[in-house]
Amino acid sequence: MAVLPLRIYGDPVLRAKAKPLLEVTDATKPFVLDMFDTMLAEDGVGLAAPQVGASQRLLVLAVPVKRHKRIDMTLINPEVVRAEGWEVGEEGCLSVPGIYDEVKRASSITVKALDETGKPVEFDAEGYLARAIQHELDHLNGVLFVDRLDPKRRKRLLAQYDEKLRL
Ligand code: ZN
Repeated sequence: MAVLPLRIYGDPVLRAKAKPLLEVTDATKPFVLDMFDTMLAEDGVGLAAPQVGASQRLLVLAVPVKRHKRIDMTLINPEVVRAEGWEVGEEGCLSVPGIYDEVKRASSITVKALDETGKPVEFDAEGYLARAIQHELDHLNGVLFVDRLDPKRRKRLLAQYDEKLRL
């Protein structure tokens, strides 16, 4: 298995709308394992396929829920079919290193997806898990968490990146 190179803010793949997986094949499993290796090597709690350059609707999560307990999950073609309430919490992103800020998200969601074997799943998520799913799902639509910040604040936070991109 392998740790894949991460795509960083400014890379066009992070702005593309990712394509649905038409089927889960034998090639899906090793890719999912590489995604987990990459996420865990970078101390991430979630990773979406575009972040490693694959414009596909696939994401992985390793979300700590309690001390010593972690929910590991692979979601393929995920959709939020219910969103209720809201809460504000801090987020960061492996593709926008060094930047953390508070983002408003739905506090309770219902998700429909396929798992890594291609089996349909539907479940409810709340709190930090709901936040992580919404953050990663945004990646599949070319949206980064910084897009959800107040424009002035975003501009200030991203000044270092925008400067590099202009060079
Ligand atoms: Zn992210």
